[in-house]
Amino acid sequence: MNLIEIREGKVSLLIPNPKDYEKEGRYDPSWSPVFYNPKMRLNRDISVLALSVIKPKSVVDALSASGVRGIRYYIEIGGIEKLILNDKNPIATELIMKNAEKNNVNAQITTKDANSLLYEIKADFVDIDPFGSPAPFILSAINATMNKGYVAFTATDLSALECSSSFSARRKYDLTCEKLSFSKELGIRGLIAKVIREGAIIEKAAYPMFSLYFDYYYRVFFRIENGAKKVDKLLEKQGYYYECSKCGYREVDYYAERKICPRCGIEMKRYGPAWTGELWNREFLLSMKENLKNFTYFDTLMQVNKLLNILVEESKYVSPYFRLDFIASLIKRNIPKREKMLECLKEASMTHFDYRGIKTNKEIHEIVNCIKN
Ligand code: SAH
Repeated sequence: MNLIEIREGKVSLLIPNPKDYEKEGRYDPSWSPVFYNPKMRLNRDISVLALSVIKPKSVVDALSASGVRGIRYYIEIGGIEKLILNDKNPIATELIMKNAEKNNVNAQITTKDANSLLYEIKADFVDIDPFGSPAPFILSAINATMNKGYVAFTATDLSALECSSSFSARRKYDLTCEKLSFSKELGIRGLIAKVIREGAIIEKAAYPMFSLYFDYYYRVFFRIENGAKKVDKLLEKQGYYYECSKCGYREVDYYAERKICPRCGIEMKRYGPAWTGELWNREFLLSMKENLKNFTYFDTLMQVNKLLNILVEESKYVSPYFRLDFIASLIKRNIPKREKMLECLKEASMTHFDYRGIKTNKEIHEIVNCIKN
């Protein structure tokens, strides 16, 4: 295997030379013997930032590939006393060994199936960053997270979560769903709801602390607290979102039944079970924003800064965003300027989920009035 050296954050890494695995001039990271995707840099930068708030003493990177994540956490956060880097692929773990040594990282490197590893160990931060769906690792990852520890999941299977593919949505996340106009946010709510139900099985409450949609993936950080009562409280916020595709009327309910729009008399689209609570813990988010000053070396600094500024605003609103182009088309108007709408609604914000969206606690008729004026 021909290796090249790259830098990311404060570490330098050896990765298989992408040139050797190109097919007809194209390259996909999954074609390489060890996976490394430069497009996930922002995900890793944001995760380093989140870990600077969490300050874990023990970390498990269960699907480590090149080792990039765990090695970055160790070097860029400090204070990590125990680090486990795992991948079931022996070619990957061999490379992880080289990369750990290269960066003077003292890690335990294992070649196990992530699920068996996660039933053997405990850590105060567990990272699940697969290529595809995190669903097969949710229960084991929560099991491995200590009381008051944190676990984070990346999901790239947005076609399931957003319900472009309702069958894989059902298989992976128990979703009964259709694609609603605010599906980008529903996808992450579907993922969070699933994580909460998996935690519920072993009486561990999973509180969403930080949520992100970017590019083609979701990333969510949870705080884990043991206790059946806490779980019961969280489960009260599993719900179904309904939307009328004719008038845009929406509702949240707690059963999966089909519903008729009270205004148009047609059957509404539905999505659930989904988390209906907050997507961010404000204090956690503000601490991340505060800590960003210590990470001015991030390649993605400008993007991360911009994203955090939007998140701080949009986290003031709990209900899903409204899409201005969708609402405008329902009433046969031109798409209004977002700035004009924010001004007209007064209490409203942009959303990172969709540049065409806005967040507000106001009802759809108030948005319609603003579009008309
Ligand atoms: N987290 C990495 C990317 C991981 S890609 C990063 O930030 O760059 C997914 C990795 O998971 C692959 O290396 C694959 O070999 C490994 N993998 C897939 N299924 C696994 C399993 N059941 N147990 C352990 N490793 C697994």
